[in-house]
Amino acid sequence: MKQYVLGVESTAHTFSVSVVSSEGEILSNVKSVYKPPGGSGIHPFEASQSHLSSAKRVVSEAVGASGIPLGEVSAISYAMGPGLGPCLRVGAVVARTLASSLDLPLVPVNHAIGHIELGCLLTGARDPVVLLVSGGHTMIIAYSGRRWRVLGESLDLTLGQLLDQFGRHHGLSSPCGRAIEEAASESDNYLRLPYTVKGNDVSFSGLLTASKLLLDGGKPFADVSYSLQETAFAMVTEVTERALAFTGKREVLIVGGVAANRRLAGMMAGMAERHSAAVASTPVELSGDCGAQIAWTGWLAHRCSVSVPVSESKVQQSWRLDRVDIPWRE
Ligand code: AMP
Ligand code: MG
Repeated sequence: MKQYVLGVESTAHTFSVSVVSSEGEILSNVKSVYKPPGGSGIHPFEASQSHLSSAKRVVSEAVGASGIPLGEVSAISYAMGPGLGPCLRVGAVVARTLASSLDLPLVPVNHAIGHIELGCLLTGARDPVVLLVSGGHTMIIAYSGRRWRVLGESLDLTLGQLLDQFGRHHGLSSPCGRAIEEAASESDNYLRLPYTVKGNDVSFSGLLTASKLLLDGGKPFADVSYSLQETAFAMVTEVTERALAFTGKREVLIVGGVAANRRLAGMMAGMAERHSAAVASTPVELSGDCGAQIAWTGWLAHRCSVSVPVSESKVQQSWRLDRVDIPWRE
């Protein structure tokens, strides 16, 4: 019989609730996104207050839109980490309250694994090399021996932070990725920028500083945006290519908010073609943080009897995805 799981996401800027079915139908996915004032980044406490004030509305809209009465839900899942402490705690409290009052199992989910599993569900990818690029992560990942393994990552900023900090330097409000993509599409004037790949890891801090200096020196935003994208995306494409060659896998999956970027997808497609590998990205409407990634991964975990007693449930600000045992994959 079909089962249903309600998932709560609140790791950073987004508070979101979704109901999914055991057959992978996303029946609802309602979100409220905290927007910091122009030029500044996420303030964790302010974001958590925003989550608190929208929680009741988001839960009731997600339940209503799903058409599934709460009494028919089998489990409640929540993003236990990684993320910002004050934000994580709001989602955990909402999930604990629902699980206690409905007497349902509470299922902790790793947010990054949520991005990957939702990407696999939506694209049909089975055993991909994953490029996880978001506000919180830049990682190249592949599954082996009951865990997702990190084959490369950023040594400093994430790709999302690089784009957002560059955009904010220009006076945009976070998140800035889409505005930078639009500006970049108006230029093909490459300005030289530092390209830093160390082993199979990348580093973006020198690239950010050099890009800001170009703006300060009067270079057009479109030219610097184009050059920044070309440089950063080529770096992650290079390390993904090495992971693909090393593992011999035949699929590449791009997940996380930056997966929405068409230039990144195009560069990865060109690389994958040379290896006869397929490339897919999570569809843009579900590539950023959302309840569906937590609800779907919650179902996969619940199916394997993963749960935590409400009284012992916690949040974990730092929780690497390669520490999580995966009982639902071979
Ligand atoms: P997430 O943390 O997964 O919600 O992803 C948020 C990040 O995705 C932010 O850093 C955004 O700037 C970035 N982002 C969203 N849309 C785009 C885009 N079209 N191109 C590049 N980055 C994007
Ligand atoms: Mg994310």
